[in-house]
Amino acid sequence: MDTHETYEKPRKGAHVLVFPYPLQGHINPMLQFSKRLASKGLKITIITTTTIPNHISSSQSQSNPSSLDFLRIFDGYEGEPDKRNFDEYINLLKVSTSRSLHELLEYYNQNKMDIYPGPNMVIYDSFMPWVLQVVKNCGFQGAPFFTQSCLVNSIYYYAYKGDLISPFCGSDLVSLPSVGSLLRVHDLPTFVSYPTLYPEKLVKLLLDQFSNLEDVSFVFINTVDVLESKVLECMARLWPVKTIGPCIPSMYLDKCLQDDKDYGLSLLEPQIDVCIKWLNTRETCSVVYVSMGSLASLGSEQMKQIANALVKSKKYFLWVVRPSEENKLPLNFKENTSKRGLIVNWCPQLEVLSHIALACFVTHCGWNSILEAISLGVPIVGFPQWTDQPTNAKCIVEFWKIGVKVRVDEKGFLSSNELEFCIREVMEGEHAKEFKSNANKWKLLTTHAMEQCGTSNRNIEEFASTLLSPSL
Ligand code: UDP
Repeated sequence: MDTHETYEKPRKGAHVLVFPYPLQGHINPMLQFSKRLASKGLKITIITTTTIPNHISSSQSQSNPSSLDFLRIFDGYEGEPDKRNFDEYINLLKVSTSRSLHELLEYYNQNKMDIYPGPNMVIYDSFMPWVLQVVKNCGFQGAPFFTQSCLVNSIYYYAYKGDLISPFCGSDLVSLPSVGSLLRVHDLPTFVSYPTLYPEKLVKLLLDQFSNLEDVSFVFINTVDVLESKVLECMARLWPVKTIGPCIPSMYLDKCLQDDKDYGLSLLEPQIDVCIKWLNTRETCSVVYVSMGSLASLGSEQMKQIANALVKSKKYFLWVVRPSEENKLPLNFKENTSKRGLIVNWCPQLEVLSHIALACFVTHCGWNSILEAISLGVPIVGFPQWTDQPTNAKCIVEFWKIGVKVRVDEKGFLSSNELEFCIREVMEGEHAKEFKSNANKWKLLTTHAMEQCGTSNRNIEEFASTLLSPSL
């Protein structure tokens, strides 16, 4: 470990270590949560790992309150890991992070006098349940942070217990015990609906999130009470659940954290000026934004269908195509459509979603993207791919009614006609006004959760004051 010299000298208050799983969609919400905790008087150290490039984790943030420190520990890899053999990857991650974290915590234990306040608590990503044992062995408290929705978590929990029930013989309906809602198999996270498609260890990783929650005092979930109140009630009977979302920068919500405009740690360089200048030249509510997040990868034929849909819709479009996906675009598509469309490798998504020119978001339905769209009142065309995305899409369509989900064939393939139809449906169809007004309604409710008397803000304050209370 090369970071001991960055440890803080004496300070008042409590100290929390925050340890995200090294993926963009996990780092973002945990960073935001950290900023909130820092604003309540806690000292926060973010633990990043060697998978995340050093220059990014230590310096990139433009909106990083000075009270956030970064520490980098070894996770078994220097640079981008090869995840093709997932079992090997996750084993090495587990062994290496356990060892490095143990070393770090022991360092704190041995140097308590020099580095007061040592950490009281380690908040770790629920994808790494093994962290809790390491933390406890070193005499610290641990609290998991769930980056996915409460509904998704509850499905994983019941799958972990073997309690997902199909009440009607031969039907594909699934009942969640005590939640009562009926979902179809294809609405479940894909690791539950089609487990054999994935490496065994990956499925186990998701279900094991619930393997050791018996004696934690806080279970943080990046969601908002009003979005999932019934499921939350049930979960709260099982664990000390604290909703603390939406974990997005304050300037898009309550505006209480000055200058908190971006997450502050991006694994890809966003093309900010290009996007904003381009959006500034478009009319109000005229642009379709397309992004499949940081991981989803489509085939060339699928990319062609999306490209054709965008052309046929005759709408302006901003499409994020990551560098690894660019070679799947139809030949010369970028040049041929430059009057209507802008294609970038990565964009400042929050700035884009909050831009007045934006009309609709074609998304893979990653949970962060969904929370961002809801918080900014943007109607959605959902094209879920895998993991929790089908469940999130179900919520968009049936519970929150802020958009549509595309219909795909039995291989999950989306045609250009269908996508064009869905874009029109959300922008100008029979229900377009309803989608927009529901999106605005949820925007107000989610924003309120982070305001002074809002549910999430109160949960964050309660946690902070527990740690700051003299009895600890
Ligand atoms: N994102 C971004 N720029 C882009 C595309 C995505 O900043 O061009 C951010 C987005 O705001 C979100 C995250 O990347 O916070 C993606 O997380 P999500 O849970 O939506 O999907 P994942 O990448 O985990 O599949």
